[in-house]
Amino acid sequence: MGINFQEIANEYHTPYYVYDFDHITKQYNELKGAFKARKSLVAYAVKANSNLSVVQHLGSLGAGADCVSIGEVRRALRVGIKSYKIIFSGVGKRDCEIREAIELDILMINVESEAELIRVEVIAKELNKECRISIRVNPNIDPKTHPYISTGLHENKFGVDIDTAKRMYIRIKNSKVLKAVGIHCHIGSQLTQLQPIEESINIVANFVRNLKAINMEISFFDVGGGLGIVYDDETLIDTEEYGQVIMKALFGLDITVVMEPGRFLVGNAGTFVTKVLYEKVNGNKRFVIVDGGMNDLIRPALYNAYHKIEVVTSNTELSDCNIVGPVCESGDFFAKNIDLPQTQQNDLVLIHSAGAYCATMSSNYNTRRKVAEFAYENGETRLIRRRETFEEIYALEEDYIK
Ligand SMILES: *Cc1c(COP(=O)(O)O)cnc(C)c1O
Repeated sequence: MGINFQEIANEYHTPYYVYDFDHITKQYNELKGAFKARKSLVAYAVKANSNLSVVQHLGSLGAGADCVSIGEVRRALRVGIKSYKIIFSGVGKRDCEIREAIELDILMINVESEAELIRVEVIAKELNKECRISIRVNPNIDPKTHPYISTGLHENKFGVDIDTAKRMYIRIKNSKVLKAVGIHCHIGSQLTQLQPIEESINIVANFVRNLKAINMEISFFDVGGGLGIVYDDETLIDTEEYGQVIMKALFGLDITVVMEPGRFLVGNAGTFVTKVLYEKVNGNKRFVIVDGGMNDLIRPALYNAYHKIEVVTSNTELSDCNIVGPVCESGDFFAKNIDLPQTQQNDLVLIHSAGAYCATMSSNYNTRRKVAEFAYENGETRLIRRRETFEEIYALEEDYIK
């Protein structure tokens, strides 16, 4: 039972990612179930893991897509997610992206500044087409997560304050081409406490009531994403309770709840599989050197993120070590000062909770090929992205060498 990591490694080599699609299904159903008393849409945050098969799988369950670039919008459409389930978010959108989103008639554009709203209006007028808008409100709440993934404070670049949002809704009301359909707030990622979410949702819900009082009806209340997962020993937000708190805050409002989870749906579905090249000792520090690197999975290097690591071996004698990749950077590590068994060449090393913000953040640094990805579903494994070739890496430059 379960994923046969060795068999995949024998056939396709390492490193690679494998995603348990049944886990993704379970997470989706759990979240959707917490809101069964209301109309709701789970718009998957594509940036967490944008593999077409992952997006398609979620789409087939009924999910929409929350996209932060037109490239992501195209991915969602490509695998059959309907335009009326697609949201386009992000602090910096290019004119051509805004134009395409309007032409595609997506559910709404999440606008994050007055300047952006003005651009959207100009473009919609040029196209002579109505554009549905949602405004991202920054409720100035500390989400109590890592500063790099915190977005709900005024010191962060995201969204606008309530007063600005009010001016923007009035501008929309007076516009011939803009239509206010939604409101949005997303305070951060890997949230493990319900209270900051409750506070910010209440602030935004009261604002919606104020808008209603001046005859502005909002149809979609987008509560953002951010639900945390277990990487180590975190206590999580109970999804049922999350649903209750949000529905309570929205009491009396006839509004569809939109959620934009990324990590929650795919994070714990993924495993990054790499293998031991050799061990070395510098001074008295033991290093386990593996064939995967920070270009494949950057979260430890970028945020000092913790991932559970497991060596597939029968050895049980543990000792302290750093587990590092081959990339020429001191930041190229997966863990420091952890106890691992003595390893041998080719032992597999499993890096858990690698389904979100891992493959999507990978690069070709050190001219390393992007790795293969696999899906595991109903007891079977299949390839969903092949390993890149060196020719593909060089191709975009080759025409220009003298
Ligand atoms: C990244 C992001 C999400 C998803 O965040 P998770 O923590 O992965 O759930 C949702 N909404 C917006 C606007 C985002 O930028």
